[in-house]
Amino acid sequence: MLKISLPEDVKFIMKVIAQAGFEAYAVGGCVRDSILGREPEDWDIATSAAPYQVKALFHRTIDTGIRHGTVTVMLHRTGYEVTTYRIDGEYLDGRHPESVRFVSSLEEDLRRRDFTINAMAYNDSRGLVDLFGGRRDLEQGLVRCVGNAKDRFEEDALRILRAVRFSAQLGYQIHPFTRDAMRSLAPNLKKVSMERIQMEFMKLLLSPHPEYLEQMYELGLTAQFLPEFDVMMETEQNNPHHCYTVGVHTVRVVQAVPGDRVLRLAALFHDIGKPACRWAGEDHVDHFAGHAQVGSDMTEQIMRRMKFDNDTIRQVCCLVLYHDMGNDVSITPEFVRFLMRDVGVELYPKLMVLKDADVAAQSDYQAEEKRENHRRLRQYYEEALERGYCINLKGLAVKGRDLIDAGMQPGTQLGEALEKLLDEVLSHPEWNEKRTLLGKLKEWGYL
Ligand code: ATP
Ligand code: MG
Repeated sequence: MLKISLPEDVKFIMKVIAQAGFEAYAVGGCVRDSILGREPEDWDIATSAAPYQVKALFHRTIDTGIRHGTVTVMLHRTGYEVTTYRIDGEYLDGRHPESVRFVSSLEEDLRRRDFTINAMAYNDSRGLVDLFGGRRDLEQGLVRCVGNAKDRFEEDALRILRAVRFSAQLGYQIHPFTRDAMRSLAPNLKKVSMERIQMEFMKLLLSPHPEYLEQMYELGLTAQFLPEFDVMMETEQNNPHHCYTVGVHTVRVVQAVPGDRVLRLAALFHDIGKPACRWAGEDHVDHFAGHAQVGSDMTEQIMRRMKFDNDTIRQVCCLVLYHDMGNDVSITPEFVRFLMRDVGVELYPKLMVLKDADVAAQSDYQAEEKRENHRRLRQYYEEALERGYCINLKGLAVKGRDLIDAGMQPGTQLGEALEKLLDEVLSHPEWNEKRTLLGKLKEWGYL
C-alpha cells in the first residue's frame, strides 16, 4: 500500500475529526505532489463533517469560505483548509457555480474535480483513493479530465487553461481527448473573469515550461484573451538580426529570463509593438522603428485589461520601453547615468537581464558588438553606484527646501528647476554641490 508521509499537524487534524466519528482525507494537489516526491505548497483536507462540526472540534478556526464548506483550521501559525464533501451546482454561466451542494461520500467529491492527477485522496487507514487512474496518469505524464472532457469544460471553462498550466508545471502531455475538447470549447474562455484567467496564465508563465505558450496559441486559447500574442506568432521578420517570427523569438526570450514575475511579463511583451510598426524597406528588409514606444503603450492597455496591479504594470511597461535602448549609440558613462535615471536604479539590473535574453534569442548577426555594449551598460552602472554619483532627485545636493530658502516660490517652476539641475549633474557629476547648483539657478534666472 502506498504510504504518504503526512505532516504532524495534518495527522492531528485528521485524528481529531476521525475520533469525532467523521471521515477526513488529504485531497487534491498535496496528494499529487507527495506521490511525485515534491513538497506540497499546502495541505487541503476533505471531510464528511459539516463546517459547524469542524469548527466545534478546534480552538482556532477561520470562516474562509463557509458557504462553500471551507473552514481554515489554524495550528502553529499555519492554516489548513478543511472542506466538507461537496459538489458544485449548475455552472449556469460557465463561470461560477451557482451553488454548492454538500454530499455524503468522498467518491462524489472526487468526481467533481478537474483532472485525474488532482482527484486522489489519502489517509493512513484507507491509503490512496484513486478512482480515475490518477496514479497511472502521473506515471505516464498525462493531464486528463475526470470523466467526459467536454462536460467538464462546459461546467467551468477555466479548466481549459488549468490543463495547460498543470502540463507546463509538470512537463506533461495533455491527453488527446482532453485536447480536442479544449480546442473546441476555447471560445467559452470569454465568459471567464480576467482575474481567474490571469492567475492561471501567470502560473504557466512562471513555470519551468513557459514555452507551452505556443500550445496555448495552437489550441486557440490565447486568441480568447490575448489576441495580440497570436498576431506576434503570425508576424515574420525579414531582417538579418532575426531568425524567428516575432512570436517564436518572444517565447525564446521568455524561456531565457529567470522565473520572475516582472521579467517574464516584460519578455512576453517586449516586442508586442513590432507587428504594428513593421515596414519593408527598399532592400526587402523589415524594419520596426518605434516598436518599443508603441509596445509599451500596448502593454499598458493589455495589462489593465488583464487586471494586473499598478506597480507590476509600471515596471513591465518601463522595461518594454527601454529594452532596445543603447543598441545604435556608443555607450558612455554619461549615457548610462541618464538611462539609470529613466529606468530607475532598482529596475536597471532587470533591464540588463532582459537585454541579454533578447540578444541570445536573435541571430548571430553583430552578436559580438551587442554583447560588448551590454558589458559597458553593466560596467558603467556599477561604477556609478560605487562612486555614489547622483542619479535621481533624492541624490541631488539641493532639495526643494533649499530653493525656497533661497527665495523661490513653491510650485511647478520649482520642480522644473530641480529637474534641470538633475540633468546638469547627470552630465557633470562633480557639479553636485549646493553652491555650484544655486549658482546655476542664478545663471538661468530662477533666482
Ligand atoms: P497548486 O499547487 O497550484 O495549488 P492545486 O492542485 O492545489 O495546485 P488548486 O487550484 O489549489 O490547485 O486547487 C486545489 C484542488 O481543487 C485541485 O487539486 C482540484 O482537485 C480542485 N480544483 C481546483 N479548481 C478547480 C476547478 N476549477 N475545477 C475542478 N476542480 C478544481
Ligand atoms: Mg493548492
